[in-house]
Amino acid sequence: MKVRFWGVRGSIPVPGRATNRYGGNTSCVEVRPRAADPIIIDAGTGIRHLGKALMEGTFGDGRGKASILISHTHWDHVQGLPFFSPLYRAGNQVHIFARQRDMHLEAVFSQQHDAAYFPVPLSAMHADMHFHELVEGARFHIGKAHVTCARLNHPWVAIAYRVDVDGASVVYCSDTAPFTDMLLGRDFIERPSFGTLPPPVQSELAAMRAGVVALAKNADLLIYDTQFTPEEYQARPHWGHSRPDDAIEIAREAKVKQLCLFHHAPMRSDDDNDKILAAARELVSADKFTLVSAYEGLEIPLGDQ
Ligand SMILES: [Zn+2]
Ligand SMILES: [Zn+2]
Repeated sequence: MKVRFWGVRGSIPVPGRATNRYGGNTSCVEVRPRAADPIIIDAGTGIRHLGKALMEGTFGDGRGKASILISHTHWDHVQGLPFFSPLYRAGNQVHIFARQRDMHLEAVFSQQHDAAYFPVPLSAMHADMHFHELVEGARFHIGKAHVTCARLNHPWVAIAYRVDVDGASVVYCSDTAPFTDMLLGRDFIERPSFGTLPPPVQSELAAMRAGVVALAKNADLLIYDTQFTPEEYQARPHWGHSRPDDAIEIAREAKVKQLCLFHHAPMRSDDDNDKILAAARELVSADKFTLVSAYEGLEIPLGDQ
């Protein structure tokens, strides 16, 4: 399979001279099994370019089939979907998978097509769209690929995915806070407070962390949310993002082969990202896995291709 990055940014798109090399589009990763349909992870603004590329092939004449795994429905992971060209061509089949709370999945996606936000209603898109609501711990197949998921520590609800296909595995773990200081997802937290957590919360976080390590076990590639520096995390632990150190710890425990820093903060310039990568590489100089930082256009071949 091949893994290609179309959007690597968190929170909001940030085009401009300072972000040219890493790219300014929000989260979108394409997993392309050998001789099979694309599996897309997240539909941030990066999915627009991917959609244009797909229209050059079978999607252009309405014979394409794609699956989109959504980590969660915050804007930076869904806001590219209305600009995904294959959805406008009759005959294309698009399957959308996500975990949701309290609302039907299709309703959540329809809302960003409300006339106040976008001129074309979701129901007027011509492709054949199917929504698949996931439960925690869901396991399923997309063609010959096996997909598993795990819960993450993030406001509202977010999940990580593992895709096993062509004798290799990729794990996408964005967005998540570390599993130490607070449990996110219940209520809106306006001001963070560090302190001793009640034992049931500690054990819930420990179970969540164990689930993530198990999901990433021996993965060929682990893509991990590293939006924060340690100082930024200290100021905003309730935002639901990690530091490179957190990603490195999980990569070590799970014995992955390659770790990829992902979901770069919007204010991070290309030079900032270079520095973060260089510092993280020093930390793992004695480790067995390799470390890269995601940029638009990065393509990582894994297993049989
Ligand atoms: Zn995000
Ligand atoms: Zn989020």
